[in-house]
Amino acid sequence: MRIVEIREHSIPISRHADPALPSGGLTTSAVALLTDVVRDGRPVVGYGFASMGRYAQGGLIRERFAPRLLRARDADLVSPDGRNIDPFRAWTLMMAGEKRGGHGERCVAVGTLDMALWDAAAKIAGLPLARLLADRLGRQPEPAVRVYAGGGYYYPRDDTSRLAEELQRMLRLGYTHAKIKIGSAPVAQDLRRLEAALKVMPGPEHLAVDAMNAYGVEAALSAASALAPYGLWWFEDVCAPLDFQTQSAVAAAYPGRLAAGEALFSADEARLLDLYGGLRRQRDVLVFDPVHCYGLTGFLEIVDVLEARGWPRTSFWPHGGHLFALHVASALGLGGAEVNPFCFAPFGGLHDDGRVQQGRAAPPDTPGIGWERKANAWALFTDLTP
Ligand code: MG
Repeated sequence: MRIVEIREHSIPISRHADPALPSGGLTTSAVALLTDVVRDGRPVVGYGFASMGRYAQGGLIRERFAPRLLRARDADLVSPDGRNIDPFRAWTLMMAGEKRGGHGERCVAVGTLDMALWDAAAKIAGLPLARLLADRLGRQPEPAVRVYAGGGYYYPRDDTSRLAEELQRMLRLGYTHAKIKIGSAPVAQDLRRLEAALKVMPGPEHLAVDAMNAYGVEAALSAASALAPYGLWWFEDVCAPLDFQTQSAVAAAYPGRLAAGEALFSADEARLLDLYGGLRRQRDVLVFDPVHCYGLTGFLEIVDVLEARGWPRTSFWPHGGHLFALHVASALGLGGAEVNPFCFAPFGGLHDDGRVQQGRAAPPDTPGIGWERKANAWALFTDLTP
């Protein structure tokens, strides 16, 4: 059982439904991992991508992490029962010789390949990823995961009316909760977009705001005091990811729920956030991205570390907004998952026949992650393996 080839592309990806709107040249990596295992007469291929919001990792994938997988012998890769590739063992091979700390974005490169390894393993097992992963962890997957619609980026023109339109479309799709962006405009302008959004949503407890790590301490505290009276669902990414001083000052001042962790990538950093970020374990939300945190091995370590420190598993609402995160939330019994119905095409959102019902969605029930059931993503992946 071997990985015979790994193909990788860097591709542009947009935060907007209309990719013509500027998105800072954002890219992501898509990978195809070809195995020598045959199912239904064809070699099994696992597909993965680098999740949203950080740039493509082609150099690290090609030069460092893919070669370690390609050099692996059968005995190094195989699962305990000898019948599958073991993504946990493959992860250890990828990280061979890597020193601790200095996470940079190698965690994203490793997470990209990790997603493809899990897709391949679930296809070899003939199981949806949520089921395979839950089996490995001795759990039952949640059949329908709580989800919310992420989006609400600034529009260069007609911002508030287009934002309201976007939220209306989310509600029509069955989402009950949504998250919009703030922090890149003066507070008064952000409050105007917030109020436009609240006119659409069923109530303030259905709307979260995400400042995308924009604020220093003074701006964070003044935004927190402006937002507090609204009673929002949560206030996310308040300040720079390692600015625990500002994070804890806001936690002391802001009575509502905070969300953090999206741009922290290791269990060591998660522990520091818990020690020094002032977050409240029974109230606040953790948005670590299971791809950006070195893939599932790293993400599971974060869940373990924070659970041991008193965080309920339902505090985790992973960032990403794609099918992989949905499987992970289902398998681990997390609080819920972000879904990006309109932005980050072709990877954002559910599979084509996926439906949101009363704010919940089920991951695809076909073997693997289910990219085959998302035509726009599938077209891109099959470019790698014509
Ligand atoms: Mg965020």
